[in-house]
Amino acid sequence: LPERLGRVAQLLAKLPGVGEKTAQRYALFLALGDGSVARAMAEELTALSVGVRACDRCGNVGEVDETGASTCSICQDSRRDPSMLCVVARVQDLLAIERSGAMRGRYFVLGKLLSPLEGVQAEDLPVARLKRRIAEDGVVEVLLATPPSVDGEATALLLARELSNVSVSRIASGVPHGGDLEFADQVTLGRAIEGRKNLR
Ligand SMILES: [Zn+2]
Repeated sequence: LPERLGRVAQLLAKLPGVGEKTAQRYALFLALGDGSVARAMAEELTALSVGVRACDRCGNVGEVDETGASTCSICQDSRRDPSMLCVVARVQDLLAIERSGAMRGRYFVLGKLLSPLEGVQAEDLPVARLKRRIAEDGVVEVLLATPPSVDGEATALLLARELSNVSVSRIASGVPHGGDLEFADQVTLGRAIEGRKNLR
């Protein structure tokens, strides 16, 4: 096989959930077509790498402006309640909560969870950045919406201890234990947010 095809397959195999065989199938599809998909993809990916990245304030997907800053639509939306901050592990969780429509505040994406097994320690979490955000925005309540898994609960406990001068709540059970927020239905997730329990 041409070396170039192999390089494309290697890149595709870096995508989550894409194994080597699937990557090769995709690479062949792109190479053997008329080239229009490959060209459009190359163009869009280049534009994406320049114009879209994590929001500087919350970690959601944001668009880069002419000053080089990235801001997401939620941080830009002045109708959002700045006193309520929902802490999630991943952007996918944020999107799931948004679909439920139960969150009127803003978000903070951790990007990772405490995980002794995977070597993620307390100091690896962006706690300082979270504290700064809380102070800057005058946040009154922090809702910990990390998933109800071992790592998610451990992270919520740690954050509840770390965050003082602010009311801290946790999403109610209802989302199955170990379950992924991404796959919880909107009604369940909405109830878990409305029925949140005050930790402090
Ligand atoms: Zn944002």
